[in-house]
Amino acid sequence: MPEIKTLRFAMELRWNPVLGEWVIVAAHRQFRPWQPKTGCPFCPTGDEIGKWEVRVVKNKYPALVEEPPPPFSSPKPPYEVREARGICEVVVETQSHEGDLCDLSAENMRKVIDVFAERYRDLGSKDFVKYVFIFRNKGTVIGVSLHHPHSQIYALPFIPPKIGREMENARKYYEKHRRCLFCDIISAEIESGERIVYADREMVAFVPYSAMWPYEVHIYPRRHVQSLLEMKDDERDALARALRVITATYNALFDFSMPYIMVIHQAPTDGGNYEYYHMHVEFYPPYRDKERLKHPAGVEWGAGTFTYDGVPEIRAKELRDACKRALRNLKL
Ligand code: ZN
Ligand code: ZN
Ligand code: FE
Repeated sequence: MPEIKTLRFAMELRWNPVLGEWVIVAAHRQFRPWQPKTGCPFCPTGDEIGKWEVRVVKNKYPALVEEPPPPFSSPKPPYEVREARGICEVVVETQSHEGDLCDLSAENMRKVIDVFAERYRDLGSKDFVKYVFIFRNKGTVIGVSLHHPHSQIYALPFIPPKIGREMENARKYYEKHRRCLFCDIISAEIESGERIVYADREMVAFVPYSAMWPYEVHIYPRRHVQSLLEMKDDERDALARALRVITATYNALFDFSMPYIMVIHQAPTDGGNYEYYHMHVEFYPPYRDKERLKHPAGVEWGAGTFTYDGVPEIRAKELRDACKRALRNLKL
């Protein structure tokens, strides 16, 4: 092991042989500024004002880099190590320093979707990128270090475990039924209707039957597509609308700006055939009522099993009502 002072910029991927998954070790990320009071790095500077609406910047504290240093540990089996090769980008979604997706104009939100699709294509075309993971963290309780509206992209050199599990189950389901698991889920949700929060011609948003987070919502395009790239003009518009509607719904639910994690699940970019997969967006807000947070603890972290304190159908009804209130104020 090298001397501690040289480890400031140490980064590598360490294999967990027990769980069968990678952990990204990035020493420099501990020096990230925490919610700086002045000088937002995402706000436009003088001559930039009005010049851009959405822009992509490199993450200043990347967990993965395109030209990584060699691994700093030299493990013996059963351990394994790899270079932390990947790309971490930030999508600055607007020039304004405050707000949520619902505060973006329809055109601005659509531009964000187009940028996501383009980054998925460009990053995914690099041979070392096996998965393009797009996500958005909102709110201090989620651990957001900068409040200026932004999403993040991690171009990963492996398929992350949660996606791997979804892919595996979708593949098995397809082999057995010759149908897409997610298309069947969408049909089941539309048929019952009791967990639907919002739906239009192209999109369906609902609380999953086996939701893990109290007000978890998933958004699916009705058409069977594997990524944003395959989505047509009107479908991208519809997704942009659905994202604004759902975030406005969350903010209307308890009349405060709701923190959340938003993730986009798309097919891997490792060259495999994932026709049985169906892209979607998932939202995990941490609140279980106006005052209390859901804290994943012993059974969630230690056993990997979620307990749901409540009834998903009742929470879906609350979200449906909040959606109606939100739609009154939202300019679609
Ligand atoms: Zn700013
Ligand atoms: Zn499908
Ligand atoms: Fe998913």
